[in-house]
Amino acid sequence: MSFENLGLNEALTKAVAASGYETATEVQLQAIPPGLEGADLMVSASTGSGKTASFILPALQRVLIARGDTTKRREKGVIYGPRVLVLCPTRELAMQVAKAAATYGRFVPGLRVATVVGGVPYPAQIAALRGPLDILISTSGRLLDHLNTGKAVLENVEMLVLDEADRMLDMGFIDDINTIAAQIPAARQTVMYSATFLGHVGRLAQNLLREPRRIDVASHTDTHENIEQRLHWADNVNHKNALLDHILTQKEMEQALVFTSTQRDADWLADRLADMGHHVASLHGGHPQGRRNRVLQGLRNGQLKILIATDVAARGIDVPTISHVINYGLPMKAEDYVHRIGRTGRAGRNGLAVTLGERMDVGMIRRIQQFTTQSIPVQVVEGLEPKSPEPKMFAPRPEGAGGRFGNKPFGKPGFGHGAPSKSFGKKPFASRAEGGFLPRGGEAFAARERAPSDRNAGRFEPRAPHASDAPRSPFDRGVATGRVDHNPASFAPRKPGAPVGKGGFKPQRPRPNGFTR
Ligand code: AMP
Repeated sequence: MSFENLGLNEALTKAVAASGYETATEVQLQAIPPGLEGADLMVSASTGSGKTASFILPALQRVLIARGDTTKRREKGVIYGPRVLVLCPTRELAMQVAKAAATYGRFVPGLRVATVVGGVPYPAQIAALRGPLDILISTSGRLLDHLNTGKAVLENVEMLVLDEADRMLDMGFIDDINTIAAQIPAARQTVMYSATFLGHVGRLAQNLLREPRRIDVASHTDTHENIEQRLHWADNVNHKNALLDHILTQKEMEQALVFTSTQRDADWLADRLADMGHHVASLHGGHPQGRRNRVLQGLRNGQLKILIATDVAARGIDVPTISHVINYGLPMKAEDYVHRIGRTGRAGRNGLAVTLGERMDVGMIRRIQQFTTQSIPVQVVEGLEPKSPEPKMFAPRPEGAGGRFGNKPFGKPGFGHGAPSKSFGKKPFASRAEGGFLPRGGEAFAARERAPSDRNAGRFEPRAPHASDAPRSPFDRGVATGRVDHNPASFAPRKPGAPVGKGGFKPQRPRPNGFTR
């Protein structure tokens, strides 16, 4: 169905058409008409489903209507604050919503959008909050700071959007959200987006929404038809590194997002790959916003081929050229796996999601499969076959209908087991023929990012000690090292023997994989 029939103003349909979108996605079809009517909504739709446009278009229509309404005319010099407030869990997501507002609002006369997020200086934000303002996009912590100092005015907010509400609650922002909502007139429209409305998210919805309509276009059991998933078993960290090197040097590899479990592993792995000549950078919660922006810019303009990231840092990344997501370190929560693989296969493309699992990861892989109700097909790379016997896995118990890959245990024919490495090249990961635009898996995210010292924090089940529990990176052996700065402005691989980092010294650390510079 086209955007023409949804009740949107011409200024908005024109902007949508200029963005190249002809047909509305499912969440847009379902959420835009009631959003325009002013109804409260509870929407489950994942990143990649087109959900941002489904709330920002009705928000922009509100601004347009106000422009033509003489009773809503605003006087010069008076601080009114925004008409629309969008709350997001992360800076990344807030930036993306702001980008969408600018894109779809390009024909809204004099549109004023401000982004107020943590990690950036206050003065410009204060100026934006006190000037004329239509839409404010914010993370809750920084907005609360401005409310506490009286710099933010929310008494004229007509529409409140909570984007990825479950993640905000996971991150512990419940009190912030309630405090902010209490400052907004009760006669507002409230729309809430969340992968789930169970538990505390449901209770928050009950408190904030009035007679909401429920729209559900995604669930974590979605089949990710345009994302091929693979699991490679690795004997140990050396074997894992060799598998990673193999994948990164395949010709299908356009851009890769490699996930590690800890910030320290992200830095270590980026360092190792830079030494090997890759255009690579790391990104994690310990990095300042400026670096994050530069790194993401490098990824978008193709200067950067590989990004090593932690779960927190990678949230909201929307770069269609990411062809591969590689789970080098497993996530803390099964939901994060769904979020991770959703960074590829974007904007109608195909993607490949590879998990490099060690024996100690069996528990988490099992939980991921239960959560998605799908088995991840096991593959081996010719010449890099694991020496240890394949861990015993059982197919996930599907909730109701079977998952995408059925109920057969791993290792049975038809699951890719035993496929030689060349299958990586032979079988294009184009499993989705239509090229349409499908909503994908839901997201419910953990806020925590394992700091260097709490490597195993967040594991839900105690696991038996195993040989592979040995330290996985030189950092875990307590080897002191200098912090490496990969100069994210250039992403050029370091020349062999060149000094490393700002301090101009080379970290002295063992190379577990035996690579030399
Ligand atoms: P979101 O779910 O909001 O994160 O959007 C994911 C991506 O889909 C973004 O790159 C959007 O620009 C894009 N998108 C939004 N609406 C449509 C549409 N109707 N058709 C195709 N792509 C879209």
